[in-house]
Amino acid sequence: MAQLWGGRFTKETDQLVYNFNASISFDRKFFGQDIEGSIAHVVMLAKQGILTKEEKDAILKGLTGIRQDVEEGKLAITEEYEDIHSFVEAKLIERIGEAGKKLHTGRSRNDQVALDMRLYTRLEVLHVDELVKELLCTLLRIMEENTDTYMPGFTHLQKAQPVTLAHHVGAYFEMFKRDRLRLKDIYHRMNYCPLGAGALAGTTYPLDRNYTASLLGFEGPTLNSMDSVADRDYIENSVDRTARWLVRCKAEMERLNQLPGTINRKQMLFGINQGGIYEDIRIRHAQEITKLNLDGYAIGGLAVGESHEEMYRILEAVVPHLPAAKPTYLMGVGTPANILEAVERGVDFFDCVYPTRNGRHGHVYTNQGKLNLFNQKYAKDVRPIEEGCQCPACRRYSRAYIRHLLKAKEMLGMRLCALHNLYFYNTMMEEIREAIEQGRYHSYKEEKLYGMKGHKSGGEEA
Ligand SMILES: [Zn+2]
Repeated sequence: MAQLWGGRFTKETDQLVYNFNASISFDRKFFGQDIEGSIAHVVMLAKQGILTKEEKDAILKGLTGIRQDVEEGKLAITEEYEDIHSFVEAKLIERIGEAGKKLHTGRSRNDQVALDMRLYTRLEVLHVDELVKELLCTLLRIMEENTDTYMPGFTHLQKAQPVTLAHHVGAYFEMFKRDRLRLKDIYHRMNYCPLGAGALAGTTYPLDRNYTASLLGFEGPTLNSMDSVADRDYIENSVDRTARWLVRCKAEMERLNQLPGTINRKQMLFGINQGGIYEDIRIRHAQEITKLNLDGYAIGGLAVGESHEEMYRILEAVVPHLPAAKPTYLMGVGTPANILEAVERGVDFFDCVYPTRNGRHGHVYTNQGKLNLFNQKYAKDVRPIEEGCQCPACRRYSRAYIRHLLKAKEMLGMRLCALHNLYFYNTMMEEIREAIEQGRYHSYKEEKLYGMKGHKSGGEEA
């Protein structure tokens, strides 16, 4: 297995220890940033005479080839590598041989990870800023269209002077403008290049840190190498910021609900738990948002590429810190098995594209496992998707007919599969509620999972 450490041990690493250390399921989203950072590093190494021109050219060709192949789907990022950086390096050595090993000259995994995080966050901040800018343009348009729309202004819940709607909306315009300033501040604080910090105390190679920083569009290199690689701060800052946003959001909603003419005073406000994969940060954040006594609580930032086991581990850590009497919502999850496991860990509800997206690809869920209706073996199968299912697709159509529709790219085929899947999910949620009420949830879950893995009927997949 591709592993960075362990040279001092004589025996092979246990799989459990390996899984505990692996991060590729999280950091694969830094793939683009990892390549971008490596390219700048190599260009600098060549400029400094640490690499020859031939070595530089070979490495650059290798890296751009890997990037292209991953983007075009020809090369898959697989979990046999411990992290995204090992993946890129292993592929590079595979492609260009010995020269590939020199990519890591004058660089540590620590400053490399810190760089990838900064490049990624910088991009995300710009994206959020673009969205806020779009919102401002919309508000401005509403203002321009409503310079003659009059309305009562309020102070202390009493009608005061008349104002225009443009004037009123303008107040929100100013608030969001201030948010853009905050984003700009984050951007600037993030915008220094940590490469050259090494593991924590720099490197003996004569690097040109200013040059690498300028290649990557940073304002300059970071100034203290230890601070550069200890970058959990920024996740803590982000979490603190979302907690502050939530406080403002709650105050604003209460203010709006006191105004006469508010349309829906019963609109619910949920807090969203954040904190990446750091249990301690997640728990502290959960405790903080619980104090706000909101209508319900969501768990966000999961199901974004980490393994199922890791998601369950975070749920086990965080759900006990959310109020049991309020609904708990796991965002963007998941497969029927994910839902069954998350309910066992205290989650109440979910949202997910799986039933419809999988339906569009001819993948349908049954109690005997998932079927791919594109498979040849269903060509003459006159049974419904699932025998006994009361959904509109199963009551009228056979697997063979739906397969024919899918093969002919007839939209109805996708619709029928999506209908069946939604029905399957809904029915499962009904069963879940009933099993909980009757105090037999655990055995229900085990049996359902056992069936869906195909144990009962020889179904094809989980
Ligand atoms: Zn059905």
